[in-house]
Parts: sequence; C-alpha cells; structure tokens
Amino acid sequence: MSLKAKDKSGLLYVVATPIGNLSDMSDRARQVLSEVDLLLCEDTRQTAKLLSFCGITARTRSFHEHNETKMQQWAIGQLSDGRSLALVSDAGTPLISDPGFSLVREARKRGIRISPIPGPSAAVAALSVSGLPANRFCFEGFLPAQATRRRHALDNLKHESRTVIFYESSHRIERCLEDMAGIFGADRPVMVGREMTKLHETFFYGTLGEALHFARSDEYQRKGEFVVVIGGNVDADMDWEKACNLSDRLCSAFPLKEACRIAGETFSVNRNRLYRRMLTRTNE
Ligand code: SAM
Repeated sequence: MSLKAKDKSGLLYVVATPIGNLSDMSDRARQVLSEVDLLLCEDTRQTAKLLSFCGITARTRSFHEHNETKMQQWAIGQLSDGRSLALVSDAGTPLISDPGFSLVREARKRGIRISPIPGPSAAVAALSVSGLPANRFCFEGFLPAQATRRRHALDNLKHESRTVIFYESSHRIERCLEDMAGIFGADRPVMVGREMTKLHETFFYGTLGEALHFARSDEYQRKGEFVVVIGGNVDADMDWEKACNLSDRLCSAFPLKEACRIAGETFSVNRNRLYRRMLTRTNE
C-alpha cells in the first residue's frame, strides 16, 4: 500500500539522507520522498541533486536556520490540514547539528504524527568504525568557533568517561586537535574520520598527539568534513568512585557541602555533582 493511501491525516517524516555516497539512500527514504505532499529542505538545490539521482520529482520548500520560525508555522498549518511533509537536511539525519528541532518539538506538542525514516548519520558512522567503546558515548556536535569558548567547552569534558564525538570542519580541524591534545592530553586515543563514504575517505586512528602531527604534516588531511571520536577518560570513573566514598565518609564529620568540596578537590571531580548525588541519596 502506498504511504499516501495509508496516511490520510497529517504526518511529518524526518528522513535521513546520505552523507556522501548517494547509493546509501534507502528504498524506504526514496518511497517517502516520492509520495509525500511536500519536502522541507535545508537547501533545495542540494536536495535537488539527490532527487535527480533517485529519479524523484517532488515539491520542495526551503527550511533552514534563517527561515525556520516563519516556515515552522506554515508547516504546522499544512500538517494540521492533513498533509504529509518530509523534512530533510543537506546530508545525514535532520536535527543532528542540522535544522528541525523546533518543528519536531512543536509537532509533538500538538499531537501531530511524526515518523523517522532512519539512515546515515556521520556521528554514528564514525563511532561504528572507531575501535573506541561504543556502549556509552556522548555527542557534542560542533565546538564553539571562538578559541576561549572552545577551550572552556573542552575543559568541561576533560573528565568525561564516555567516548565523545565531535563534528569539525576543514577550517578548524588543526586548531581543534591542538586544543584537544592540550586539554585531554596528547596520549588520549582518537579516531578521525574524514570524508566518510566519499572518494577520499580516510580514517586516522592513534593518539591525539599523533592525529595533530598527521593533520599538520599533510595539507590534504585538513580538507573535507571530519568527525573526531575521542576515547573517554578512563581514570574518571575510578576517581568518581573514590570521591563518592570519601564524601560519604566525610559527611559524618563535616557539613554536606564541605564534605563534597574536599572530596571533589581531592579527586578532581565536580563538587556540585557530588553534592547533587548526596541530596538525592538523602531524599531517598
Ligand atoms: N546531520 C548530519 C549527520 O547526521 O551527520 C550532520 C550535519 S553537520 C551540519 C555536518 C558535519 O557532519 C560536517 O561538518 C562533519 O563534521 C560531519 N560530516 C558530515 N558528513 C561527513 C562525512 N561524509 N565524513 C565526515 N564527516 C562528515
């Protein structure tokens, strides 16, 4: 049965598209794009290439960060009138460092049906081949462009014990690796995925210090699109356990805040996190 025949009430599809190799477009994504009433595209010209590759003719309208608020109202109106829309970004999964969050949130609030058409996302693609733990990870997207803010953001992640995934562009990959090596330590394991699924796909696996050297030594390795996957701080879990034990013991002799401050400083863990843990335990 076709999607149109099945779905008479309004439905928003969030459709993932390839991150480079157009053959990664799924049959289901093709079907949805060819059958919905309208496509909301981050860049209609970019989506036109994909549609042409797939032999699809579709009505498109642009939906990007600069017209999102205005277009959102219009899109919600269309959905409320029973139309089916598909949201696509230039590459990968919409909303993942791409527009669409506010539209999806509003559609959810209004009880409009939303259905994902899952597919590529650079973050998961890189993680899946990184050789770094994939059972627990966090996604940080793009770091701030401004150096002080970038370093501050990295500093906050210094003790993160999960694998951390970043997006980076050719303009900043070198500076970003330099800051990461400085803050996380040059020996922290990393995998850098460059131009994945494209002609010049490259993977670098080693330490942050080596990755920086690799990027610096070859201008070619600083071109294209990058995902940086960093191994978590393996000492952090252990330090957290130790700090919890110490704060538990200290709180019989000191006020709660003071116990958390001492334990936090002793093991370089966040005292507020310790304090929140204590409060939760006290309330239980
Ligand atoms: N929504 C997309 C997704 O699901 O992956 C990401 C969009 S974000 C605007 C674009 C960034 O994703 C690039 O700057 C790069 O960091 C990463 N990226 C996208 N395609 C990539 C590829 N083929 N190889 C490496 N990184 C890629």
